[in-house]
Amino acid sequence: MADGMFGLSERTARETAPVWEKVKDHVTPIEWPSQAELIVEINRLKKERDAVILAHNYMTPEIFHGVGDYVGDSLGLAKEAARSNAKVIVQAGVHFMAETSKILSPDKTVLIPDLKAGCSLAEAITGADVRLIKQRYPGLPVVTYVNTTADVKAETDICCTSANAVQVVEWAAKEWGVDKVILIPDEFLARNVAAQTNIGIIAWKGRCIVHERFTGADIAEMRAAYPGAEILAHPECPEDVLSAADFAGSTAAMTDYVMAKKPKQVVLITECSMASNIKGDVPEVNFIGPCNMCPYMKRITLENIRDCLLNMEYEVTVPEEMIAKAALAVQRMIDLPPPAVPARYDMVKAKHHVAVELI
Ligand code: SF4
Repeated sequence: MADGMFGLSERTARETAPVWEKVKDHVTPIEWPSQAELIVEINRLKKERDAVILAHNYMTPEIFHGVGDYVGDSLGLAKEAARSNAKVIVQAGVHFMAETSKILSPDKTVLIPDLKAGCSLAEAITGADVRLIKQRYPGLPVVTYVNTTADVKAETDICCTSANAVQVVEWAAKEWGVDKVILIPDEFLARNVAAQTNIGIIAWKGRCIVHERFTGADIAEMRAAYPGAEILAHPECPEDVLSAADFAGSTAAMTDYVMAKKPKQVVLITECSMASNIKGDVPEVNFIGPCNMCPYMKRITLENIRDCLLNMEYEVTVPEEMIAKAALAVQRMIDLPPPAVPARYDMVKAKHHVAVELI
């Protein structure tokens, strides 16, 4: 029966009205009816399958606000994967995130809607590479960004995310009694962390294809065009971008900043969906470009989430012996006391003289 808004049945219109309020700046009235039907179908399938959907901050708004049971950054989602009682986890994110969920919840069925949802950083390094690095730097702890495959995590002492990387590096140096730490695979994250600590950093040449494309010149242009706007950058960006920004931090830290300060105009130097998703909760804030799209994250759609739950595919598995080793590294990170607020990268006090050894 089509007697609700947009020709939807009254029930579908009622169930999806709160979602529409959050996505209406990004979804057209022409697109909405089919998306609303999919949202209702996915939420019904979740109950039937005893499933939860973990949706990363870079998912499109209709996924983020419409079907995500837990939303957030890599660290937050990894913790939710472990806490959840559901039998099935659907990772609305990329493959390494699904592997991390499997590592933390080996008894649950972990599904990803598209196996090609990869990550340039995760693909930049293998477990064999890490074994060679360890041979070259014996005795140094290996801190690995969570954006890595399970076989890399299995060779790792402790994982980190951009929200806790400085804290983890300093913890590892203290635990191992050393003044240098291997921090892989993101070169820019490593350089930005090095600027925040006295611990020496050995880095790898991995890059995020979304964040490496921003430049200091982009920030200068934005400042000239929008003098009142506050500029927030992700630590996977090059150092000159962070230095020119007003604030630098993980997606969780950026969200907290915008929610707390509600600046009139803000620029988020990160993946495009970040701004669209926060905008749903703070409509009074004016979000200005530029942003870059992650082609891997954008492989996840409402359609393939629905198919994933209908067909119970694609299941993500990790060999048992790899799970045991990788879980140690992820759990060590989770067990560290959480920072009171997600760490910010203070580029005003940055130690730009710190040399990073690039392998
Ligand atoms: S945004 Fe960058 S780090 Fe995140 S999944 Fe895409 S390529 Fe990987």
